[in-house]
Amino acid sequence: MTTMTRIFNFSAGPAVLPLEVLEQAQRDLLSLPGVGMSILEISHRSKPFDEVIEGCEADLRALAGIPDGYHVLFLQGGASLQFSMVPMNLLTPGQTADYIVTGAWSQKAVKEAKRVGGVKIAATTEPKFTRVPAQRELTLDPNAAYVHYTTNNTIFGTEFHYVPDAGPVPLVADTSSDMFSGPIDVSKFALIYAGAQKNLAPAGLTLVIVRDDMLARTPSTLPTMLQYGVHVENKSMYNTPPVFAIYIMRLVLAWLVKQGGLAAIEAQNARKADKIYAEIDRTEFYRGHAEKDSRSRMNVTFRLPTEELEKKFANEATAAGLDGLKGHRSVGGMRASIYNAFPEAGVDALTQFMREFERKNG
Ligand code: PMP
Repeated sequence: MTTMTRIFNFSAGPAVLPLEVLEQAQRDLLSLPGVGMSILEISHRSKPFDEVIEGCEADLRALAGIPDGYHVLFLQGGASLQFSMVPMNLLTPGQTADYIVTGAWSQKAVKEAKRVGGVKIAATTEPKFTRVPAQRELTLDPNAAYVHYTTNNTIFGTEFHYVPDAGPVPLVADTSSDMFSGPIDVSKFALIYAGAQKNLAPAGLTLVIVRDDMLARTPSTLPTMLQYGVHVENKSMYNTPPVFAIYIMRLVLAWLVKQGGLAAIEAQNARKADKIYAEIDRTEFYRGHAEKDSRSRMNVTFRLPTEELEKKFANEATAAGLDGLKGHRSVGGMRASIYNAFPEAGVDALTQFMREFERKNG
């Protein structure tokens, strides 16, 4: 049905969405079946939209096995607003919060928390951020208001392959770039947030999953729109939610179910990432940025022998239909972002390109 050619899109986010999701959105764009209006034109207070947002929440709960006692919120402002909302709501006066610092996004989260209250750095892997710390390296304060960490470091290509044990202290996670890349045990967390534009939906939507007991901490002086409790009470419709992004998320979740759920998508993701890492490990020509134990399955970062070759690699890859491989400026080199919807055929095309490029330039 799609007549145009689609390239392989390795962008870190906004990122590739499943083709069949785009096709369905295209089919239904002028009129949602049985509704006679576009999702772009519909009232968020209408019955058809109720069905979309409620279905989205039900699918999220079923896919991730979200226990009762957790609220699911569809917010705006990106993960970046959560850097502020988390401490504004959870960092009770007189307490400090523990932050595990594993990259630029953790650093930004720390910066915002410090505007609100006291922060302790429980561990940091700066300045190079080639790995995440092990549990034994964490200096956790048993009296902390919460522990915050970033599950996957989009820029550096590192990922936690365990959930830190914070004991009784509430655990908060920024899962923006690996949410639903595999199963997640929500019961280990007090709050999970994710900007949706990598694995879940287009930009403009932020998913928050918050445990009910966290809501009591919010100071009553906090502006209304920043209070989690207000969004819980109003079922994410205190104001107009991003209806289109929520609709797309619903389609993405249906696609995920069709893939076999989170365990199945995790196996696919592992296979895709392993193929690129195998290519990196095969030769000295490519050097992975992340230490092996900390390698991300979502963002694979690697360098070439010179910056000149890196530029050439990026240019030639783009010309070959492999787009978005230039790494973040703070790391340099290449970054292949291979989220859930990124096709395995694109990974095969990349590894073949890597081999060919090395043969010509190595
Ligand atoms: N956290 C992580 C791990 C990210 O990758 C990003 C975006 N790349 C952000 C936070 C910021 O997200 P947003 O742009 O939605 O504010």
